[in-house]
Amino acid sequence: MSTEFIVVRCSNLKCSRFSYCKAKQKTKLCPYCGRRIQLSKTKHYPAETTIIARKLVQEFNKRLGKMKEPKWYKPE
Ligand SMILES: [Zn+2]
Repeated sequence: MSTEFIVVRCSNLKCSRFSYCKAKQKTKLCPYCGRRIQLSKTKHYPAETTIIARKLVQEFNKRLGKMKEPKWYKPE
């Protein structure tokens, strides 16, 4: 399976929310604060489908501060 999407954390420390985008993109605009995130410089999590990506974003944003990956998530 290929990585179509990635989940990234906003590099703005005051924001730090998660969002997802296509894996091919080099930068991503944070939907919460508008910061342009350099994907290569940011830790990101591969996701095969938008469904997984969306679920990851939800779970990560719920766990903000704890920074733990949900149990069901196992990247290759
Ligand atoms: Zn942000």
